[in-house]
Amino acid sequence: MDCIFCEIASKSSEAEIVFENDKFIAFLDINPVNYGHTLVVPKKHFDNFLTIPANELEEMTKLTQYLSGAIKRALKADGFNVISNNGTTAGQSVFHFHYHIIPRFENDFHIKPRTIEYKHAEIEVYAEKIKEVVSKYEGLLNG
Ligand code: 5GP
Ligand code: ZN
Repeated sequence: MDCIFCEIASKSSEAEIVFENDKFIAFLDINPVNYGHTLVVPKKHFDNFLTIPANELEEMTKLTQYLSGAIKRALKADGFNVISNNGTTAGQSVFHFHYHIIPRFENDFHIKPRTIEYKHAEIEVYAEKIKEVVSKYEGLLNG
């Protein structure tokens, strides 16, 4: 498989690693949005947020919380964004699941996408569409 994050996890490619254990690795993004922009990556290959098993996601999210606090403190950041891009349309370019931790500083840049408005009862239509599928698969939540 041709995957740069698998290569970094197996040490066949180099990266500036800031944390590592048996399951996860965190390293600096080579094209940072801000200095210290970090990627948290499971060593096993999963394509995206939907395909990583829930127990591994839970562990990875806890680690991302810990690393976010450490990065904020280390860089004296004012805040941070935790982002996961899923699918090409959503900006994913490496198809090995990862969280971005982006340290943020006052007046650095705007990350908010444009907003649109619901017309009439459209908001209910969208909620119904989603709720129908949510209730259909709800059993999977505890299974
Ligand atoms: P995505 O676009 O999939 O959400 O994020 C992938 C990120 O991986 C990008 O921000 C990109 O800069 C970073 N990246 C791609 N190739 C490499 C690499 O070889 N080394 C490191 N450290 N980061 C990489
Ligand atoms: Zn991979």
